[in-house]
Amino acid sequence: MKYENTLQFAQKLDAKDPLKKYRNQFLFPKHKGKNVIYFTGNSLGLQPKNTGKYILQELNDWAKYGVEGHFEAKNPWYSYHELLSKPLAKLVGAKPEEVVAMNQLTSNIHFLFVSFYRPTAARNKILCEAKAFPSDQYLIASQVSYHGYDPHEAIIEVAPREGEHTIRNEDILAAVEKHKDELALVFMGGVNYFSGQVFDMKSITKAGHIAGAMVGFDLAHAIGNIKLNLHNWDVDFAAWCSYKYLNSGPGSVGGAFVHQQHHQENLPRFAGWWGHDKTNRFKMEKTFFPIPTAEGWQVSNVPVLSMAAHKAALDIFENAGMNALTNKSSKLTNYLAFVIGEINKRINDKRQYLEIITPLNSSITNGCQLSIVAHGNGKALFQKLTSKGVIADWREPNVIRIAPVPLYNSFEDAYRFGEILQQLLLK
Ligand SMILES: *Cc1c(COP(=O)(O)O)cnc(C)c1O
Repeated sequence: MKYENTLQFAQKLDAKDPLKKYRNQFLFPKHKGKNVIYFTGNSLGLQPKNTGKYILQELNDWAKYGVEGHFEAKNPWYSYHELLSKPLAKLVGAKPEEVVAMNQLTSNIHFLFVSFYRPTAARNKILCEAKAFPSDQYLIASQVSYHGYDPHEAIIEVAPREGEHTIRNEDILAAVEKHKDELALVFMGGVNYFSGQVFDMKSITKAGHIAGAMVGFDLAHAIGNIKLNLHNWDVDFAAWCSYKYLNSGPGSVGGAFVHQQHHQENLPRFAGWWGHDKTNRFKMEKTFFPIPTAEGWQVSNVPVLSMAAHKAALDIFENAGMNALTNKSSKLTNYLAFVIGEINKRINDKRQYLEIITPLNSSITNGCQLSIVAHGNGKALFQKLTSKGVIADWREPNVIRIAPVPLYNSFEDAYRFGEILQQLLLK
């Protein structure tokens, strides 16, 4: 498609957008009385207008039934998480019995490492991306130390080549091959939070398995953003949070995937009563019998209020569908990249050039995030954007991250963002 950097063109694309009705289902923060340009759905998704209603339902049932709400509530709390398995399975490309909504992201990865990171003297290394999200770095190092190994030796990080911003897939595969006799686990993000790079999870999983390692992914920036196919890719385990692209509210309940092939293996795990066989959970007997699905990794009972917010958001995804979302996402992100490109052409002072480091035409899918190295005085530019009603995200030393999300961002948002940039850079 041939893009134009005009308001009229952006509005024409919005008029034709099959998802345009969803924008009005979200609550936007205001700046000087108008909606902000909200480009941080990759950090905290906006609140659906329905969320309050879903939470209120549970508050009312709690008031009405007290403890009986576990079974008497409209959506019985005892099994509330089960309502979320089907929609989550669709989002990650899994069978419903392979996913479970529970805990939070970093906690879930720790629990999954108990089962899937089982180092031996010969095989104790973990391969991951360099500059992973800090929580993941701390997590990996602490797991390695917990098992008595040295993080400096046991963690293999694959980094971008000198002068490059993203990691070449061939370099990841080569590193797996190189360490094939000592790898216990390959664990990476599905989408790197900093660069927005989507990793080729299919080929990485295959390479990891050929090397004899387990393979897991942190899907914080992938779920609800790109199409996933965990079951068919043969991924062993994965986990995610729900407050970024999934719009389920700050700190809301996370989720986990465990491939079906591991359900009956009786893997070691940290157990709790909610992972125990449902049919006799309340007999409160001594021996732990795990539910033979991903639910067998649950530990605690269900945080219903945050699950209600999660359900409100997932119902929107059920309605909109990932196909339509990724179709729009690709157009919208490319349009925004085009608008930025048009501005770059007119920047005389090359020191202020905006360099998009997110791969846009890779052979695998793109997400919606654009990471921009703001050459020159990036921090000042970012602050000015904020003062003009653009909510973006700043990462040291010089990166502005913007994520136009297909559920509630518009082509007009992208155009208006460009207009503001232009005012700031082309004076
Ligand atoms: C957002 C994010 C987290 C946050 O972890 P919590 O346990 O939810 O606080 C972890 N890892 C990655 C890659 C993230 O993007």
